[in-house]
Amino acid sequence: MISATGHVESQYGRDALRYCRKNGIKIAIATAQPSSTFFNASQRAFLYGLGIRKTDVQLCIGKDAVYDANGSLKGPMLQEILKIQSVDPSSVLFIDDQPGNLVTGQMLGMKVQLCNKENVGLTETEFFEGLSKVDGKPALIIFDLDYSLTRPNMEMEEGEYYEPSFRAEVSPYLMGGLVVYLLLIMIYRVYKA
Ligand SMILES: [Mg+2]
Repeated sequence: MISATGHVESQYGRDALRYCRKNGIKIAIATAQPSSTFFNASQRAFLYGLGIRKTDVQLCIGKDAVYDANGSLKGPMLQEILKIQSVDPSSVLFIDDQPGNLVTGQMLGMKVQLCNKENVGLTETEFFEGLSKVDGKPALIIFDLDYSLTRPNMEMEEGEYYEPSFRAEVSPYLMGGLVVYLLLIMIYRVYKA
């Protein structure tokens, strides 16, 4: 499936979410996507397919976006998530592809993990590297969306272009039937005349 922003799942995005569900780790999303994108129907369907559920705290950028000193839009979102989930920041892992966002998370007392180091969004190695910083068992993982749980759909830009063939195949039986039909009409007309 392709997201509303033309992204596809990152290498380990879906598996990371599944790992959290299986191990009782809470999931939250903090994304810089505007609410008009993040909450539109096709994006909702994409996120559901990825494994995100209504019960997960999901915050995005509203009308008044404010950058913090680290060039991050996420400071207020991260604080809000901590408040809603009432977890100790030291037991929270925050995964993002933007170093500025991670500095913000760190200043709030969270453990942080950089992803998209291979330009494919979150990988398995990055996910478990992050988990190890919280002794393998964080209470909550806050995921960034773009370039973390998702990545741009490179196949669309770099893959071979498939040109569909529009040549209609007419069945030889149909063709034969048509010829016989026309012959019968001609014979009928000749005899009638
Ligand atoms: Mg991102």
